[in-house]
This record gives sequence, C-alpha cells and structure tokens, in this order.
Amino acid sequence: MYAHHNALGVALSLRPSEPVTLVRPHAATAAARFFVERFPGRSFYAVKANPSPDLLRALWAGGIRAFDVASIAEVRLVRATLGPQAELAFMHPVKAAEAVAEAYFAHGVRTFALDSHAELAKIVAACARDGVPAGDLQLCVRLRVSSAHSKLSLASKFGVSVAEAPALLSAARQAADALGVCFHVGSQAMSPQAYADALAFVRAAIVEAGVTVDIIDVGGGFPSRYPGMEPPPLEAYFELIHRHFEALPVSYSAELWCEPGRALAADYASLLVRVEKRRGNELYINDGAYGALFDAAHVDWRFPVALVRRHLSRASEMGFAFYGPTCDDMDHMKGPFVLPADVQPGDYLEIGQLGAYGQAMRTAFNGFGASAIAEVHDAPMLSLIPGEDERAEALPPNVTPLFARRTG
Ligand SMILES: *Cc1c(COP(=O)(O)O)cnc(C)c1O
Repeated sequence: MYAHHNALGVALSLRPSEPVTLVRPHAATAAARFFVERFPGRSFYAVKANPSPDLLRALWAGGIRAFDVASIAEVRLVRATLGPQAELAFMHPVKAAEAVAEAYFAHGVRTFALDSHAELAKIVAACARDGVPAGDLQLCVRLRVSSAHSKLSLASKFGVSVAEAPALLSAARQAADALGVCFHVGSQAMSPQAYADALAFVRAAIVEAGVTVDIIDVGGGFPSRYPGMEPPPLEAYFELIHRHFEALPVSYSAELWCEPGRALAADYASLLVRVEKRRGNELYINDGAYGALFDAAHVDWRFPVALVRRHLSRASEMGFAFYGPTCDDMDHMKGPFVLPADVQPGDYLEIGQLGAYGQAMRTAFNGFGASAIAEVHDAPMLSLIPGEDERAEALPPNVTPLFARRTG
C-alpha cells in the first residue's frame, strides 16, 4: 500500500488512470475510540458496512472488540483477521442452518438474532450436540420498528411486530441462556428520537411478554455527515438511548449494546477519481454506480467532493452530475456535486465519506472493478466524530494549496 499525505499527493505521484481508494485508519481508530468511550454500553461493529481487514484492525486498535456479522463469510473473515478474542454476534434474522452450525461449533459464536419461531427452532437444532440443546445461547429477538427518522429504511424486511413479539420472546426465553431484544431504526437516523420511539416498542413487548430480558441491542443507524445532512451530535443519541434504557423493565444486570456500521466506517475512506469527459454540467468519471458510488446513483446520496489540483481554482462553484464508466444509463449520479466551474477532463476529484457502503458495494461489471488503495494521513473531508470534525473544518479552502480542499 502507498502512503501519502493527502489526495493531491496521490494524484501527483501516481497519476492514476483507475480510481484509488484513499484510506484513513487514523479516522476509523478515532471513531472506534469515541464509541468505546462514550456509548453507554458495548459497540458491535456492523461488518457489512465495510469488511476490509485493514479497517477491522483499525477499529480493533481503537478498542472495538465485538462485531455484528450477517453471513458465514463475515464470521470467517473476522475470525481470520482478528483471532479468537473477537466477539461475534450473528445478527441476520434469516440464516442457513449450516451457517449457524459452523458459526457455533467452529467459530465460537453464541449470539444469534431471530424474528420467527421457525428461525428459533432452526438455531436450537443447529446448535444441539447429540440431541442435547446448547445451554449457552444468547438469543436476540428482532423487533420491527419505524424507519421514519432515517434516510434508508430497514422497516419492511425483518422484525417481528409488537403484537407477535411477546409469544416469540417467551419461546426464545425457554431456549436462551441470555435473552435480548434488538431492532434497527434504519440507516442514517437523523434524530435521536428514532431510538426513543423504538425503545417504547421494546418496553411494550417486554411488559406484555412478562419475561426477563438481559440484553437491549439498539442496532445501527447512527449517522455520519454528508452535504445537506447535518445530524445532531452523537452524544445526543447516546444520552437519549441511555435514559430510555435505564427506564426499561429489564434485569438489573442487563447490558446495552449497539451495532454501528456507518458511524464507525464512513470517515475511513474517500475515493480519488479522474474526469474523462465533460458535457456541460455532467462529468464522466472513472467510478460509479457499479463501483463505490452505489448510494449516489440509487438513493441520490450526496457526498462531499473536492477538485484535486496543485493550484487552487479561482472559478466560482457550480453543481455537477456524474456519469460512471460503464455503458449503462443507470450509471448516473445526479448530485448535485459542487465543484469549481472550470473542471476539465484530466482533473482529479476526491469524493469523501465512502468508508461505509462504498468500497463494500464494488462490482466488476463491464470491466471496471479495479481500485488501488493508498493510505493518507489528512483529516476526513467531513466527520461527526468530535476532534475529527474540527480537524476536517480546520482546513481553510484558500490557504496552502497542497493542503487545501473545497467541499460541497
Ligand atoms: C446494516 C446493519 C447495521 C449497521 O447499520 P448502520 O446504519 O450502518 O449503522 C447494524 N445492524 C444490523 C442488523 C444491520 O443490518
């Protein structure tokens, strides 16, 4: 891996003709440390946001010891990367029986999520030894909650309704050493109230079921910063969650867990791309919907962008749309992405906040899958992590060209 100070350093020294993923392990370690120190419970990193082994190690360096995995491949990956000390929770509510068995017997996984009686029976059967049920299962019942406060809904696919939850909680209690309730408020939750509303559902389900609950897992959904999306500080989320957790009728020793994906990974990576063609306010760049920019194309997500030139442009700014490199019309990102009006073919652009759901989505469609990786040491373009956000904003747009960047 190459190491450089920033995107400009990479652009000048490599003149890359393919997109380069710029990684910032220091930013991921800072985000990890922040959750470890400030979230009033345990943080499980949701591996699906970005399964890069380098990122897993950076989070480990910041104190993250637990991981939310959704597939047997993620189970194997985390074990192989971080060894036996990593705690794994298999939180996909619909699993193959073979995956459950391998996770339990070969990888020491004890925590499993479920949202149906059929899945409960599957887990119990897959973890039994010679017909004797396992006595050490931690089972988390996934509750369906509203995604009303979130930019990306997770409300329709998984989760048992509040009406059906009590029966499932009672059944899971019989099979579990520790019983948990989990949910996901949707990704990029823009208000802490999302968690308060969900915890009100949790309360109703627990009271109705009359069972002892040992784990409350508030899932992911913690936001990051993007153009046009300025969430409240993460501490406001933690404070409200803590207050509502403390008021729940759970066992005295009950644990509070969370599963951040985006909030731990977003700052980790940005992308260096080259403009291959300009048509008015449309830029044809060398990465796109089938690469790291899936969300920009499919849910019109806006990312911070900066023109990467040795000498800062004095042109005024304007909004651009992007086309990716494949031959598909859908490889289009409408933005607007705000850049100096004199962007030309041959220019490099940095696109920020792609550590979560960026690199992880890359395909090789149409032969455009390649992306080199370079480590950079500057601040992420935006950040919601205290300390990192100040470093990001401390970069004035017009002072030292080698360090300067514009975001929009
Ligand atoms: C995707 C997912 C997460 C992570 O969500 P973010 O919005 O990235 O924080 C956590 N838990 C589960 C079960 C998920 O499916």
